[in-house]
Amino acid sequence: MSRVSVPPPTCLQKPLRVPHRYMFGPGPSNVPPRILWAGASPVIGHMHPEIFEIMSDIKSGIQYMFQTHNNVTLAVSGTGHTAMECAIFNAVETGDSVLTAVNGIWGERAAEMAERIGARVNTIVAPPGGYFSNAEIEKALSKYRPVLFFLAHGESSTGVLHPLDGIGQLCHKYNCLFLVDSVASLGGAPLYMDQQGLIDILYTGSQKVLNAPPGTAPISFSERACQKIFNRKTKPVSFFLDLSWLANYWGCDGKPSRLYHHTGPVTAFYSLRESLALLVEESLERSWERHQKVAEYFSAGLESIGLKLFVKEKNVRLPTVTTIVAPHGYDWKEITAYIMKTHNLEISGGLGPSVGLVLRVGLMGYNSSTANVDMVLAAIKDALKHCHKSKV
Ligand code: PMP
Repeated sequence: MSRVSVPPPTCLQKPLRVPHRYMFGPGPSNVPPRILWAGASPVIGHMHPEIFEIMSDIKSGIQYMFQTHNNVTLAVSGTGHTAMECAIFNAVETGDSVLTAVNGIWGERAAEMAERIGARVNTIVAPPGGYFSNAEIEKALSKYRPVLFFLAHGESSTGVLHPLDGIGQLCHKYNCLFLVDSVASLGGAPLYMDQQGLIDILYTGSQKVLNAPPGTAPISFSERACQKIFNRKTKPVSFFLDLSWLANYWGCDGKPSRLYHHTGPVTAFYSLRESLALLVEESLERSWERHQKVAEYFSAGLESIGLKLFVKEKNVRLPTVTTIVAPHGYDWKEITAYIMKTHNLEISGGLGPSVGLVLRVGLMGYNSSTANVDMVLAAIKDALKHCHKSKV
């Protein structure tokens, strides 16, 4: 007699259905067919030589995308948060001082991650939409003497592209590692890991400008970062994210053989490889230029229909994620829901400190085109005509 007491669910006896949707929120973005097909290639062993070759191609692609010669460059199995934790858990030991720049949600999250491993965390805080001068950063570095300083290059919750020039030099002056989150910006705005700002740890995600499915996160560590990480007194709190293991799995530690650490998500590696190949085909410079032009075209279109950009200074607007001041008199949730229902198109409201203040539109990678801008503008105009507007 069968001992099965939980019956087979009827929901799983129906076919899988996923609608097509325009993914113009802050991520994930739409995945072009070539990347989807790559991900549908057969699964082979994560330690097979063909996979090691694909991982090596990915490493070269990340070095190009990050503009770095760092040897310890790889993709973490997980989303952007996994890369954040990989950076923080490896670079910080219990009791270390950490400084995070909070001008949106990402500095808050980085602070919480460092707190969870027993670091002494301090923050510098700017209002949503704001950013920090190098003088403010230097003041905090000299006061708190952190081992790690976190900054988001693209603050996707507020739409700010943070200037980077000179900050790495300041961090180095105070013997601190410079950690930059570029999940929302990389590939869409210029960033030179080695030259600009002397960044020590940089990471991004697969599902934004790269247009791959979520689930892999490119990351790179400078020589200085490796010096600190590989000479820690204590082991990192996470086995899964331990850089010594990851560097070995990705063939970055010079050892003759690679050991089994975890089962790499091979189909996600295929997609990531293909997304990097598409970026190489277009070139970084052309991708940056396209994102900038499309973002400017979008800003002009928004202003022409009477909407305001949340980030006042043009030169610090993130070209991948545009933040619009939440239209007065409307409920932002009604606007995003109307656009989803009527236009099959995702845009989103604020996140963390920007909730209620903004609407956010992400046009990233393959989605960054003037035709898509026209589509979003038409959807927003339609929503403003049909959603309820209070008289007060
Ligand atoms: N940092 C930034 C700037 C982001 O925009 C995001 C994703 N919205 C993350 C980190 C976290 O990435 P994920 O959702 O892939 O974990």
